[in-house]
Amino acid sequence: MKKTYKIIFILFLFLPILSLTDCSFRKKKDYNVVLIIVDTLRADHLPFYGYRRNTAPFLNNLSKKAVLFKHTFSASSWTAPATASIFTSLYPFQHGVLMCLLAIKRAMRLDPSIKVNKIPPQITTIPEVLKKEGYLTYGISDNLNIGKIEGFDQGFDKLETYGYKKAPFITQRILSWKNKLKSQRKYFLFIQFMDPHAPYHKREPWYEPKEDFKKDRISRYDSEINFVDSFMEKLYKEFQWDKNTLLIITSDHGEGLWDHGHMDHGQSLYREEINVPLLIIYPEIKEKKVIYTNVSTIDILPTIRGILNLNSSSQDEGLNLVPLIKNRDLPKYKKRILFSYLWKKTDKLLELKASIMNRWHLIFNPKKEFFLFDMSEDKKEKFNLYKKFPQKVTFLKNSFNKFFENSKKYKKVQEKVKIGEKTLKKLKSLGYVK
Ligand SMILES: [Zn+2]
Repeated sequence: MKKTYKIIFILFLFLPILSLTDCSFRKKKDYNVVLIIVDTLRADHLPFYGYRRNTAPFLNNLSKKAVLFKHTFSASSWTAPATASIFTSLYPFQHGVLMCLLAIKRAMRLDPSIKVNKIPPQITTIPEVLKKEGYLTYGISDNLNIGKIEGFDQGFDKLETYGYKKAPFITQRILSWKNKLKSQRKYFLFIQFMDPHAPYHKREPWYEPKEDFKKDRISRYDSEINFVDSFMEKLYKEFQWDKNTLLIITSDHGEGLWDHGHMDHGQSLYREEINVPLLIIYPEIKEKKVIYTNVSTIDILPTIRGILNLNSSSQDEGLNLVPLIKNRDLPKYKKRILFSYLWKKTDKLLELKASIMNRWHLIFNPKKEFFLFDMSEDKKEKFNLYKKFPQKVTFLKNSFNKFFENSKKYKKVQEKVKIGEKTLKKLKSLGYVK
C-alpha cells in the first residue's frame, strides 16, 4: 500500500512537467499561410501527376519537398461552389453557394438583376479562422465568381476581385502588398489565378502550334499552365515562402479537354473536371511525401487547423490530413467516401451527384442514369461498369443520398445583384453568358 502512495506522489510531482510538454507540443504555429488556387487546373496536366510535358517546372521542383496528394477531388466542377467548399469545409448543398454568376444567362432574359447565393454569414471561412488568430488576411481573385457578392470577403482585411486580368497583373498587385504583409507577425494570403481558364492564350515560349484544332487548344491550355507557374515562382522567391510558411497549392476544379466530348468545366463530374492537384508545404516537411489515399478539397480548412495546432471545429465535414501525412489513423481515411456535386440552372436544370471510394467513382443524376468507373484500371473513365457491379452502385448511391439528406444544411442566403454592361461583357468573353 505504501508503495502505491509513493508512486502516486511521484506522479503528482511529474504532472506539471508532463502537462507542460503537452502544452508545448500543441503550441500554435505562427506560420504565414498562403493558399493558391490555380483556376481550372486539372491534375493530370502537371508533370508530377504523370503528364508528358513539363508544364510547371517551378511546381515540379516544389513537389520534391512537399506533401503531394495524388488523388484529390473537388467538391464541385465550377468555381463558386468549389471554392466555397475549400473555404468552408462543407459540400455545395450544405453551404448553398449554387447560383452565382452562371445564373445570368437565364436572369438577363427575365430580369436585369439576378439573385446570387452567398456564403451564409454564420459559416466560418478560412480567412475568418485566421483573422481570429491575429493574422492579417489579404486575398486576390482573378475570377469574378470569388468576390463580395458571393460572401467570399468574410474575414478578409482586403479582398480584391478582378475579371481575368491575368497573372502579370495579379502578381503586380500582390507585390505591391509585400511590405505591408511582410511587416506583419503573420499573414494569410489567398490567391486565385485564372490563367488556365478558357479562352486559352498562346503563351510563348511554351506554346507549340498544332494543326489539329483540339490538340492546338490543349497546347494553348498547357502553355497557360507554364505561364502561371513562372509567376508563382516569382512570388515564392520574392516573399520567401520557403521560410516559416504553410503553402497550399490546389485548383477549384479541372477541365474537360474533349475527354468526354466537351471542352469546359461545370458540365459533368468526370474525373478530368474534379481531379485537382494538391501540394502542401510547411516547415516540418523536409522531403517529398506522396499520399495515394483519396482526399477532398474540403479537407484543406481542417488541415490548416491541424498544421497550425488550432482547435478543430464541428463545422468541418472534411478531415485534418495531418495524421494521414504522419501515417496515422489510416483506416479512417481509406474507408471514407468522398462526394462531389453539380447543380446548375441556366436554360435547364442540371444536377449530378458523385461518390468516390478507393478506386470507385460513381456519377448519377435524377433520371436514374448511373456511371461507374474503376479509376485504377480506367483512368480516362471510358468504361461504364454499372451493370457489372450493381451492389457497388447501390452502396455508393445510398451513401450519397443518406449524407445528402442527413447532413447539416445552412439556410441559403441570396443577394440581389444588378449586372452592369462591363461585367456582362466580361462574363460573355469567359463563356458564362452566351
Ligand atoms: Zn474555376
